[in-house]
Amino acid sequence: MNTFEQFEQHESGIRSYCRSFPVVFKQARGAELITREGKSYIDFLAGAGTLNYGHNHPVLKKALIDYLENDGLTHGLDMYSDAKERFLETFHRVILEPRGLGDHVIQFSGPTGANSVEAALKLARKVTGRSNIISFTNGFHGCTIGALAATGNQHHRGAAGVPLAEVSRMPYANYFGKDVNTIAMMDKLLSDPSSGVDKPAAVIVEVVQGEGGLNTASAEWMRKLEKLCRKHDMLLIVDDIQAGCGRTGSFFSFEEMGIKPDIITLSKSLSGFGLPFAIVLFRRELDQWEPGEHNGTFRGNNHAFVTATAALEHFWTNDEFAKSIQAKGKLIKERMQKIVRKHGPDSLYVKGRGMMIGINCPDGDIAAAICREAFERGLVIETSGNHSQVVKCLCPLIISEEQIAKAMDILDAAFAKVMTEQVDSQAS
Ligand SMILES: *Cc1c(COP(=O)(O)O)cnc(C)c1O
Repeated sequence: MNTFEQFEQHESGIRSYCRSFPVVFKQARGAELITREGKSYIDFLAGAGTLNYGHNHPVLKKALIDYLENDGLTHGLDMYSDAKERFLETFHRVILEPRGLGDHVIQFSGPTGANSVEAALKLARKVTGRSNIISFTNGFHGCTIGALAATGNQHHRGAAGVPLAEVSRMPYANYFGKDVNTIAMMDKLLSDPSSGVDKPAAVIVEVVQGEGGLNTASAEWMRKLEKLCRKHDMLLIVDDIQAGCGRTGSFFSFEEMGIKPDIITLSKSLSGFGLPFAIVLFRRELDQWEPGEHNGTFRGNNHAFVTATAALEHFWTNDEFAKSIQAKGKLIKERMQKIVRKHGPDSLYVKGRGMMIGINCPDGDIAAAICREAFERGLVIETSGNHSQVVKCLCPLIISEEQIAKAMDILDAAFAKVMTEQVDSQAS
């Protein structure tokens, strides 16, 4: 009998990650996933960056269990709740105020990343009265129509069913290599009234492109982009849904770059527990919404308020956690560089920042084969990139050094197997 009968019979063919990892998971702790049969895997996917604090973190779990035991509100539309008040106070005190963003207000959008992007784009268009948005090559912002229009990915765009409009695509940092200044290129297009690029309401950008293949923007590029926004009166939206919440080594991915985005979207690891939760942060002057204009039944998730607040108190009230991310990011990078030197110094390279880091392979087939080999050896890891060619590490930030070492040994073995096969097939 087929073990996956229920899924294959009753679930839509839209399912995707399960195809790469054909087992039934039953439990999860920290950086570990456990199947129904009791086989354990190290999780280097972590909900595509949703489980920065790992699965079932004991501090977050206890906060949630206590809240439930006490009959705390689960759902309350966007009414004032005790849990929301604590989140607002804690997020402002622990995150916004110390980072010079104390005057940014918080909008609770629907609970997905895409919904917070929709809200951000809508607000930018409403405030400026303009409809065009600049987004970048290989950017990913979600799969609802507005967010999808800003997304580059062909596979997702192809499913839209309607024209994806009101977005001008511009080349991301280093898209044409190190010698082409893509900011100067944009400046020229925006300065020429007949360039054909309508004056935009905003620019939406990822500081590290998560789904796009771990392309990174430098501090200098981001500062120039911010200047460009000021010069052409465009709002700067940083989509920090994947790169935020500590992934790059600081709470926000842009923190050490000396920029102040007008609008910021956050979701994925914000609840800390894998609960659906998304917010939009923006300068107070931009808060021109009428009550309920961007509505939604699940705006703010009280359980997510509870776990997010616990995560902020536990991880972000001093710099210890950020330092540990930076150290582990360095460790992973060194191990990956070793793999590159050993198995393909001319065909492989490491890319990304902090604990958002991966190995670029010659093509998507090789990267997929490496992920398959890794899975057989007990590691859940996925690809990203314009050709799905990047083997991408998104492990929980709380992962132990022993687990990192074990995962890197697995990756090393997977690269050894696949890259040797490559050489053999080229020789024959
Ligand atoms: C995942 C992601 C989104 C979309 O979030 P969903 O919750 O899947 O809708 C948007 N932007 C970025 C950068 C993401 O990584």
